[in-house]
Amino acid sequence: RVGPLTLTVDRLSVRYGDVLAVDDVSLTVEPGRIFGLIGPNGAGKTTLLDAVTGFARISSGRVALGGKDVTRSSPVVRARAGISRAFQSLELFEDLTALENIVAATDPTSRWCYLRDLVYPAPLKFSAGVLDAIGEFHLDQDLDHVASVLPYGRRRLLAIARAVAGGPSVLLLDEPAAGLSGEERRELVTVVRRLAREWGMAILLIEHDVEFVLDTCDELMVLNFGRAISHGPPCQVRNDPAVVEAYLGGE
Ligand code: ATP
Repeated sequence: RVGPLTLTVDRLSVRYGDVLAVDDVSLTVEPGRIFGLIGPNGAGKTTLLDAVTGFARISSGRVALGGKDVTRSSPVVRARAGISRAFQSLELFEDLTALENIVAATDPTSRWCYLRDLVYPAPLKFSAGVLDAIGEFHLDQDLDHVASVLPYGRRRLLAIARAVAGGPSVLLLDEPAAGLSGEERRELVTVVRRLAREWGMAILLIEHDVEFVLDTCDELMVLNFGRAISHGPPCQVRNDPAVVEAYLGGE
């Protein structure tokens, strides 16, 4: 585990050809806090996450973790430094079991490839993070099932469990509530809050589900054409006329 660290994005811009996908955006997410990014399709939300993880080339500005500049670090270095991400498209290892999925993301020696021959509970010692993730997401019943056969809601939780099992400082979630039932959504609200408040993670999430955002986030930023058009406590942002016009009014 890396321990609690603050994520700082400072005057960040990402350009794709003629498109300024992210335009001079600054934000800070402290440990224990949940920061929501909302905005219309194409506003630059995913590109901002890509820039934080190191998958999008930053045109200007900087990204820092715990005050340390990682702007020029590779995605692998940033992951080891404590930045983790769960994807909108899940990106699970479909042929592996739920347990193997979780362990694969945490164990640098990839010992998961030997797990199949073992009877659970395996005589291997899993890291505390793996066990915590299994418990937090109530995945005990799913451990032996290959990811591809799990219902969508369980797959979504598994993808987030895998992202947290290594004990990251910063967790990036791309539309975590998409496709969930009402009950699964409520369960996820509880889990996300606990990851911040009890695990001490700094969480930056993208979400179109406004109710989920209002239930989880301490702070909100609205992006439109790459720019932050509003930023502050959720109740303030929600009533900002610029936001209602650019985004919420169109819902
Ligand atoms: P959505 O809610 O639909 O996921 P978004 O807010 O995440 O949208 P981005 O996917 O970050 O928005 O896209 C921002 C802009 O950058 C869009 O105009 C998009 O077409 C463009 N863009 C994103 N990725 C690339 C890329 N790899 N190459 C070229 N342009 C891109």
